Amino acid sequence: MASVLIVGGGVIGLSIAYECRSRGFEVTVIESRECGGQASGAAAGMLAPYSEITEDPDDFFMLCQKSLELYPDWVNKVMQFSDETFEYSRNGSLYAIYHEADLLSIESKQRWQREYGIESFILTGDEAREREPLLSEDTYAALWCPEESHIYAPGYVAALIDACRNSGVNILEHAGEADLVSGNDRQVKTDKGIFEGDHIVLATGAWSRNWERELKCSIPVFPIRGQICAYKGPELRHIVFTSQGYLVGKDNGTLIAGASEDIAGFDTSVTSHGINRLESWSKHVLPDLKSERPFHKWAGLRPATQDGFPLIGKMTQKPSVFIAAGHYRNGILLSPVTAKIIANEIEQLPQEVPIESFRPERFQLV
Ligand SMILES: Cc1cc2nc3c(=O)[nH]c(=O)nc-3n(C[C@H](O)[C@H](O)[C@H](O)COP(=O)(O)OP(=O)(O)OC[C@H]3O[C@@H](n4cnc5c(N)ncnc54)[C@H](O)[C@@H]3O)c2cc1C
Repeated sequence: MASVLIVGGGVIGLSIAYECRSRGFEVTVIESRECGGQASGAAAGMLAPYSEITEDPDDFFMLCQKSLELYPDWVNKVMQFSDETFEYSRNGSLYAIYHEADLLSIESKQRWQREYGIESFILTGDEAREREPLLSEDTYAALWCPEESHIYAPGYVAALIDACRNSGVNILEHAGEADLVSGNDRQVKTDKGIFEGDHIVLATGAWSRNWERELKCSIPVFPIRGQICAYKGPELRHIVFTSQGYLVGKDNGTLIAGASEDIAGFDTSVTSHGINRLESWSKHVLPDLKSERPFHKWAGLRPATQDGFPLIGKMTQKPSVFIAAGHYRNGILLSPVTAKIIANEIEQLPQEVPIESFRPERFQLV
């Protein structure tokens, strides 16, 4: 059977590995540090394309919607081969607003959502508080999206690693920075030696720009730091969004408040400015947090791209090489659909969603 060599053990690389293995390929994952140790392990785990995307729907929205639709079966598939379980909560979201003038924005959002068959409801402040009693009295109205859901990201990553290993994927951690062997599009060199694959998939998140030299192509992926924190309780029934950020309650009793968007290079430290902003905003949304302080603060690097769309697909100049990177704020959500797209590309099967907009070679080399 043909072999697939994947560089990068985040949620994207691991999902591709698991999908390819389940289709019968020999699969190896090469990770410079620890699998899930970067953006994937830092994520809030929301599967919330309707709240995240505020503009008119485009190919990116269709990609997100498809992935949300794939999630229930994908979770079952991961659980099948994993001894680890993880939280997958399908309890909907509330997008809260605080001024009458903001009604227009949620009304227009609801209009296009309806066109795409998405169920959503505009609630008055009182109705929103009936659904989510902890919301502030200042809540003027909210858009309720029952289909949005969330997972516990560190648990999901652990289950993916387990499912990969149990199904026969070879995972190599602490391998140092892998590089393509010059002049050979099927080999990768690492601190642990040279590895070969019939197909090579580069799933290196915020570090993907490093491939530009070897691929002779522009890969405008750059890191955007997200600072995020967690409180012990109080319990929330829904994901709560506002224009300033989000709050999401987990089954393990924590409440996550996120997240900043900072340009800080590859620095993953947490700053008091970043966390203070989250704290003061969260208290307005949930007054119960007034006397609480976060017990855990962390940060991760989202892989952003120049045009906001991820890079997913085959390099036409080097057809044994594939890229799956630049998923920015939605990599957890997009992991199942990305895995299927790359596996379909490798097998030359038709795609279920349009992928032209995500072609990796769409940027000019500058
Ligand atoms: C604070 C925060 C909150 C988020 N919340 C959400 C959310 O609620 N929902 C959602 O869908 N998304 C969310 N995201 C975004 C999501 O986490 C990312 O889009 C996703 O994790 C990207 O996955 P990845 O596998 O591409 O990258 P990563 O997880 O960063 O993995 C890339 C891996 O490649 C490895 N690597 C890099 N270069 C090399 C090399 N040369 N050789 C070997 N290995 C290499 C790195 O060590 C790393 O482990 C959030 C992100 C952050 C930071």
